[in-house]
Amino acid sequence: MDNDANLHGWRLLDGTSWTYNPNSTPSDILLSSGLSVESALKASAASWSNAPSGPVLSITMSDLGAFIGPAADGENLIGFGQFTGKGAKQTLAAAWTWVDETTGVATDTDIFFNTSHKWAVSDPGLAGAACGDPDRYDIQNIFTHEVGHPVGVAHSDDGNDGLRKATMAPTASKGELRKVTLADYDLNGLIGAY
Ligand SMILES: [Zn+2]
Repeated sequence: MDNDANLHGWRLLDGTSWTYNPNSTPSDILLSSGLSVESALKASAASWSNAPSGPVLSITMSDLGAFIGPAADGENLIGFGQFTGKGAKQTLAAAWTWVDETTGVATDTDIFFNTSHKWAVSDPGLAGAACGDPDRYDIQNIFTHEVGHPVGVAHSDDGNDGLRKATMAPTASKGELRKVTLADYDLNGLIGAY
């Protein structure tokens, strides 16, 4: 089996930080006791930072005022918003990445969750043993996947079991938590990109 991960061809610098506006959180989000969107986002970033050769990533919280959509404005943003256009309803979340083509370094990256779906922050300790809320998508599960895109790891594309279990597998289910833990595919991608 070919164990090489698919790469986007860019990388993030150590110290890359995203800003999340807590006022962007949907009012109907379901939070497990003691957890928050902030704790989920930070755990996702840490899963890539703490892996071998992973870039140092961080998340900060700041009230950014009105909704800001994806833009190459020098601000790495995370937020919730209503996606529009063809296929918008099916999209759970998306990452936008702008790259300096001469250096291969990503210069701006924004990640948005689609408010067309119901969201939860589940106890990641349940991963592997059980699942989160069966009617909602888990923030940490989806965000760990989305961060993989600006990190430089592209979707797994093989039908075999190992690649379907990758954090960078292209689809996700309600209640799914297994993407909070990087799989061999994702770790190979990191080593390939850094
Ligand atoms: Zn993806």
